[in-house]
Amino acid sequence: ESRTVADHTLFRHAAYIDGQWIENGESGRFTIANPSTGEQLADLPSLSRPQVAAAIDAAHRALPGWRAKSAKQRAQILRRWFDLVNEHAEDLARLIVLEEGKPVTEARGEIAYAASFIEWFAEEAKRVRGDVFPAPDPANRVLVLKEPIGVCAAITPWNFPAAMITRKVAPALAAGCTMVVKPAGQTPLTALALAELATRAGVPAGVFSVVLGKASEVGAELTGNPLVRKVSFTGSTEVGRLLLQQSAATVKKSSMELGGNAAVLVFDDADLETAVSGVVAAKYRNTGQACISANRVYVQSGIYERFTAELANRVADLPVGDGFEPGVMLGPLIDQSAVAKVEEHVADAIGQGARVVCGGARHDRGGQFYQPTVLADVGAGMKVTREETFGPITPLIPFTHEADAIRQANDTEFGLAAYVFSRDAERIWRVAAALEAGMVGINSGLISNETAPFGGIKQSGLGREGSIYGIDEYMEMKYLAWAGS
Ligand code: ADP
Repeated sequence: ESRTVADHTLFRHAAYIDGQWIENGESGRFTIANPSTGEQLADLPSLSRPQVAAAIDAAHRALPGWRAKSAKQRAQILRRWFDLVNEHAEDLARLIVLEEGKPVTEARGEIAYAASFIEWFAEEAKRVRGDVFPAPDPANRVLVLKEPIGVCAAITPWNFPAAMITRKVAPALAAGCTMVVKPAGQTPLTALALAELATRAGVPAGVFSVVLGKASEVGAELTGNPLVRKVSFTGSTEVGRLLLQQSAATVKKSSMELGGNAAVLVFDDADLETAVSGVVAAKYRNTGQACISANRVYVQSGIYERFTAELANRVADLPVGDGFEPGVMLGPLIDQSAVAKVEEHVADAIGQGARVVCGGARHDRGGQFYQPTVLADVGAGMKVTREETFGPITPLIPFTHEADAIRQANDTEFGLAAYVFSRDAERIWRVAAALEAGMVGINSGLISNETAPFGGIKQSGLGREGSIYGIDEYMEMKYLAWAGS
C-alpha cells in the first residue's frame, strides 16, 4: 500500500484561521509521530490564547453571512464538500493510517463514515422546521422558530480523526453556525485536510477554522471566550467534566460524548457465530480504541466454554502490524501510555485470578503493538471491568442469571453503549429496556451510522450526534407570541 499522499496540498503543517494557513505559533511548536514506526510526521505551530481568540473573532465575523445564506445554499456547499471527501478518500485514509495507525481498510471505512455525516446534514439542512400551536386565546398565534446557536467550538479525540470532525462540523454548518475546531494533538493532519477540502467546496473564510496547540491553553480560550455559544466535545469523562466547569462561567450549551464501559451480554440462547463475530467487531476494531468498544463480556454458563474457545480461536489469529501492510487487522496503540495502561489492566486481572486464553503481552514487533488478548474467569472488582481499557483485551465474565448480568452491566457510572446477543425476542426486549445505556446493539457489534442518534447517558455524556436529532444540538428555539386583532 502506498504511504504517500498524492495531493500534497492535503498534507498541511499549519493551523487554519479565517481562510489563512497560520505557520507561526506564538506558543512554540509540537511534533507528531507515526504510532506504527515512531517516525516524525510533522512539526506544527502551537497557537497562543490570543491566536485562538482571533479564530473565534473570525467565526463571529463570518456568522451573519453564513446564517443568512439559504438552507439550500448551505446544503449545496456541504454536498460539494462530501463529493470532495469521496474524491480524495484514499489520501485522507492514508493520513489516518499515518497519524493514528489503524489498518488502511478501516481507515477507508472511517472516511466513508465521516463523509456520510456531511451528506446526511447537507440533506437535513433543508428540513429544519419549527412549530405552530393553538394559543389559549384563539386570536393569537404561538410560533416556534429554530435558529442557529452562533459560534461553536469543538474539541475532538484522536481515535477517529476524520469522523469526529465531520460529525460536529457538518451539523453546525448545516444549521447556519460557524465553528472553530481543536483536533487531538496526536491527529491534526486529517482535520487540516478536511478544512482544505471544505474551503475548495466553497465554505467561506472563518466559517470553519482549525486551531492547534496545548490542549489546556486552547481549551481554556474555547470554553472561556464569551463569543462562543456552544462547545461540543468528544473525549474522556475527566476532560469533559473540566470543559463543562469552564463553560459554566459563560453558560454555554454543550454536547459531550464521553467515556464508556460497554458491557456485552451473551445468553445461552444466542447464535454462537453471531455472538463471536459481534464481539470481534465491537472489540478489536481500531485495536479496541473506541468509546463504544466492548469493554466487558458477560457470558452465560451454558455457552461460556464454547464461546471462550471460539473467540480465542478467532482472535489469536488476527494479524498485527503497520496499517499499510496487507492483511493487517490490528494496528498499534496510540502511544506508550496506552500500552502501559493495557499492561496494568492485564496484570491486575491476572493477579486477581483471571486466566489468559490468548495474548496477554506486548507483541513481538515491539513499539506500541500489543497482542490481541482474551482473558477468562474475570471478576467484578478488576480494572478491566471497572475502567475503560482502550486496548485489544476482551475480559470474559461468566454469569448464570439474567438479572445478575443486568445488575453487573449497569454497575458503572458510564452509560454509552451495551450489546445483547440472544435469539429470544422477549428476553431481548426485557434486557434492552433494563440496560442503562444510550445505545444497545442487538445481535450486532456495529452500531454507528449517520442515521442513528449516537450518545450516552449517565456520565457518558450529554446530547446526541448524527440522525434527525443531531442538528438540534446546534439550534436554539425562539418562541413568537403573536397577538391577533
Ligand atoms: P483521550 O484519552 O482520547 O486522549 P482526552 O479527553 O484526553 O481523551 O482528549 C480528547 C481531546 O481533549 C483532545 O483533543 C485533547 O487534546 C483534549 N484535551 C485534553 N485535555 C484538555 C484540557 N485540559 N482542555 C481542553 N481540551 C483538552
